[in-house]
Amino acid sequence: MTLPSNHYGQNNFGAVDGYAYAAQLSTRVSARLLRDAQGLRLVDQAGETLCTGAPSERERISGGPCLMTFGTAWTFDTDDIQGVELLLGPSDDDWLSSLEVWHPRLFAVVAGCLIGVLIIWKWGLDILVAGAIALTPTGFVSTIDTGNLAAMDRFLTAPTELSQSDQDMVRDIFAAIKDHAPYAPYGDYTLEFRKADVIGPNAFALPGGTVVVTDALVNDFNDPNIIAGILGHELAHVSERHSLRQLYRSLSVYVLIAMMAGDVGPILEDVLLEGSALASLAYSRDHEASADVIGIKTSHAAGYDPAALAEFFEQLTEDYGESGPEWMSTHPSNAERIETIKKLAAEQ
Ligand SMILES: [Zn+2]
Repeated sequence: MTLPSNHYGQNNFGAVDGYAYAAQLSTRVSARLLRDAQGLRLVDQAGETLCTGAPSERERISGGPCLMTFGTAWTFDTDDIQGVELLLGPSDDDWLSSLEVWHPRLFAVVAGCLIGVLIIWKWGLDILVAGAIALTPTGFVSTIDTGNLAAMDRFLTAPTELSQSDQDMVRDIFAAIKDHAPYAPYGDYTLEFRKADVIGPNAFALPGGTVVVTDALVNDFNDPNIIAGILGHELAHVSERHSLRQLYRSLSVYVLIAMMAGDVGPILEDVLLEGSALASLAYSRDHEASADVIGIKTSHAAGYDPAALAEFFEQLTEDYGESGPEWMSTHPSNAERIETIKKLAAEQ
């Protein structure tokens, strides 16, 4: 209801129309809250001042009118929310300030969600992998070795061309290293020779304990101490379950969940047994560093010079540059690794 403005006096600086209630009366009267030369006041339809000064309380009923209390005497309500804001300025109760009140809580909720996402992103896969490892039957891991070796033989590797005496030399070292290496978690450590030009001088371990040595490694590094160091390092990847962890990490989360649910279907077996991912697996820096530490202890215990592993990496750096050949591109930087190996070897 809009009241004729002349009922309220002149020189309005702003006004809102509504209804006033006297504290002691149950009836309401049409009224106007206005600001003029006399200041802010509530007037009735006749222009009589009901009370003066700013409201002592003001609240907005969500989607409804704005209620104002003037001391103990009068209440005033109006639907003209915008008019009230123009007249009195933004309220403490309006959405702007309520957002300020809610902000810390909203912020906490958003921060909580982000932390949750971060945890899942950073450790979710590790947690899944740990679960999958715990649920993996020991016997199954040796079939992973067999399957992967067969897959590699189809696509990546060829029968060894090493001489019998070279093979025997490596076998003797392997036997000595095996005797001093930590316990193999999934059956025994076994040695395989393969010619694999694409991966150059290399040795790698399959999760069940199969260690593959390439012809190029024996040809380029025909030094028992170096070979002992490398074998010690590879066996450490097995005993620490790095190989199985890396294999599982390379699988999709879907497959890991299926595995934990006990649903080891044919698709999963294909992935695990036929996957050629193993040959290109990259261990984390932590895994490499811990395999270096254990490998050095093992080769020293077996009677070899553990510092030889540093020579291997020095030679690799010379041949392939600081980052090494492609297969070890995610390994720790060679310079850093060589320093650590020398230090560890000196401590033996
Ligand atoms: Zn390694």
